[in-house]
Amino acid sequence: MFPNRFDYHRPKTMQDAIALLVKYKDDAKLLAGGQSLVSMLKLRLANPTCLVDLAGLAGLSYIREEGNKIAIGAMTTYAEIKDSKLLQAKCPLLPKAAAVVGDVQVRNRGTIGGSIAHADPAGDVPAAILALDAEITATGPKGDRWLQAADFFEGMYATGLAVDEILTEIRVPVQGSARSAYMKAARRPSDFAIVGMAAYIKLAADMTCESIAIAVTGVTDKPYRASAAEAKLKGTKLDAASIEAASPLVTENIDLVGNMHGSADFRRHLAGVYLGRVIAAAQ
Ligand SMILES: Cc1cc2nc3c(=O)[nH]c(=O)nc-3n(C[C@H](O)[C@H](O)[C@H](O)COP(=O)(O)OP(=O)(O)OC[C@H]3O[C@@H](n4cnc5c(N)ncnc54)[C@H](O)[C@@H]3O)c2cc1C
Repeated sequence: MFPNRFDYHRPKTMQDAIALLVKYKDDAKLLAGGQSLVSMLKLRLANPTCLVDLAGLAGLSYIREEGNKIAIGAMTTYAEIKDSKLLQAKCPLLPKAAAVVGDVQVRNRGTIGGSIAHADPAGDVPAAILALDAEITATGPKGDRWLQAADFFEGMYATGLAVDEILTEIRVPVQGSARSAYMKAARRPSDFAIVGMAAYIKLAADMTCESIAIAVTGVTDKPYRASAAEAKLKGTKLDAASIEAASPLVTENIDLVGNMHGSADFRRHLAGVYLGRVIAAAQ
């Protein structure tokens, strides 16, 4: 399988990369780890006339603490996130999600920026990003702008990025005493999620739930926060009765997908089950 013909550019500066996006608009595609894009090119699901390889840009791969946030460059790979001692100590939810993406090859090449910009409806890291209320930096011809994760995912493979913008950085909070977990149900360990769920929980001194974020992936056209379930669980002891009451709310008002990997009803059931599991794993 061969892609359609395209011009290949490997700019050395952000300015040059953005100039190419401005010039080619929808006809340009950014290449990061290539773990989604290369297949799309070969299958001719993407047919850019201009491919802009981000590998030539220095300074887009880093993980560093800045105040009460951790800043991660868009070209940082899943493997680097999974193995980062800083993230493991200060924001473990992200390494937990990165650890279950695909297989070793995918994790060695795939990037956090590519994962979020691609917005696969079953992507693992997007769910963690949502649960963490991360901030996303988009760099375009007018400079930087910041998007909240909650506003970023607009639909299947659709995000709040403009055609002339590059996702350059993700900022996640230092978790402190917050507990977290990411779990997914998949046919095989390296597969996309049939249901994936991230939990980010803060407990009060009396061990009641002060705040909880539950982000779900794999069940509809985009990852989402299960707000009704979160509201039901807030203030409870996160005991079995509270979780049972909240479980049906995880997929309330969600248009669930059904395909060869699992029907809509199966996904609804699994999502309810995974609420209990992910909360238990986070305790
Ligand atoms: C065998 C296999 C198994 C996989 N399993 C999983 C899985 O279990 N869970 C999971 O979540 N994912 C899985 N993936 C997908 C993987 O996570 C991809 O790496 C990811 O979706 C894209 O990241 P990338 O860096 O490879 O981006 P690319 O493939 O290079 O790009 C993907 C898209 O994002 C755009 N893009 C990339 N970087 C930027 C940027 N900085 N700014 C703006 N746009 C950008 C590109 O233009 C393109 O449209 C799997 C992939 C494969 C091949």
